[in-house]
Amino acid sequence: MSVEPTAQKAIQPLDVDYDAIRSSSPHRMVHGTEAWLIRLRQQAINVWTAVQAYRTPSGIRAVIARLKEHRALVTGGNRVKKLVRVAGRSHWRLFIPANTSPLHVPFLKGELNRLVPHNSGGHELAVVFLSVTKKCPLKCEHCFEWDNLNQKEVIGPEDINRMIENLQSIGATNIAFTGGEPMVRTREMAESIRRYKSKSQFWILTSGFNFSATNAAELRSAGAHGVVVSIDHHDALLHDQFRGVQGSFRDAITAVKHALDEGFLTAISTCVTRENATREYIDAFMEMAKSLGVGFVQWIEPKAVGHYAMKDVLLMPQHQAVLEQALLDYTYAEAYKDHPLVVYHEYYQRKLGCFAAGNKMVYVDTDGDLMSCPFCHRKGGSLLSDDFRQSLEGMRTAGCTDFPSVIG
Ligand code: SF4
Repeated sequence: MSVEPTAQKAIQPLDVDYDAIRSSSPHRMVHGTEAWLIRLRQQAINVWTAVQAYRTPSGIRAVIARLKEHRALVTGGNRVKKLVRVAGRSHWRLFIPANTSPLHVPFLKGELNRLVPHNSGGHELAVVFLSVTKKCPLKCEHCFEWDNLNQKEVIGPEDINRMIENLQSIGATNIAFTGGEPMVRTREMAESIRRYKSKSQFWILTSGFNFSATNAAELRSAGAHGVVVSIDHHDALLHDQFRGVQGSFRDAITAVKHALDEGFLTAISTCVTRENATREYIDAFMEMAKSLGVGFVQWIEPKAVGHYAMKDVLLMPQHQAVLEQALLDYTYAEAYKDHPLVVYHEYYQRKLGCFAAGNKMVYVDTDGDLMSCPFCHRKGGSLLSDDFRQSLEGMRTAGCTDFPSVIG
């Protein structure tokens, strides 16, 4: 454990009725005929977008073949039968814009271009994690920015805007503010979102710190799209001990409540340690997520970087097998149709190869430098530089050693 045992012991249970901290506007899971009709509309949009992108029967056939290959690898031919309905929009993947969003077709064209290149435009990047501060009051066991936390800030509000402009010049569907704790820069984020929201969906990735009702309302009125709150145990005390600060569980579930109340697409992100990679734990955690009312839960595997550097924390195949079976159950089984959808990037990347390294996703650290992902601490050039495109290209060429490409 990275947090000192004495520090852990200093964190005591709080007298809080956590069950009372719930939103009156939980996300609604949609299935059956309603979901089928939404999917039908989606398929029509997919086909029409492919026709526009390729314009020839051979191009369309080629991309359909690649899509089928991908689907077979990831789902074994199963179809996701449930969707998340929020603010009049439907979502079956966290970072795919709803099919009624103007960003949906540029996103789709970017995805198709990665499978079979075309010349019809589209976004180059699907998701960018943009760190906007080094400041954070927490001391999480797994923090990948640990060595940079609470140092002197390098980037300011104008740098943030410049980075967003650079990203939008090549098309970035989702820009997720992270840190440090991005909620220490609520005003700056709101101003940037207000200015740039027409070309990207903006997300806040937060521990829950400072995610008050007022700040949630300000970000929502600025045009922010989604919120991902980190919760690392369904037990309040164990979460607080993992995060190194008493009261962080209360703050996290309060943030979830405010995010849902404001109509954000809301998810929980959780680091699943070896200790927690059991079916009993996963089921208990997913029950909590359902009771909170979120539409998605993201599972992240621990990596030996940052606060976990040099530590033996990687999940073993037996742990991954538990998570992978649970992923399939929570995605396809009738018994879990009302539970949130699960996002498990490592599963998909083991099947399809790395999504990051400038491919569809990239990470920008607290110095404004490009990195393949939050866990690969190799800098790949500055996003503030005029030649950031070459830096991205260099990352794509270098690729990823953790998840070698399985299928293009
Ligand atoms: S993981 Fe996030 S919340 Fe935790 S210490 Fe690091 S920056 Fe702060």
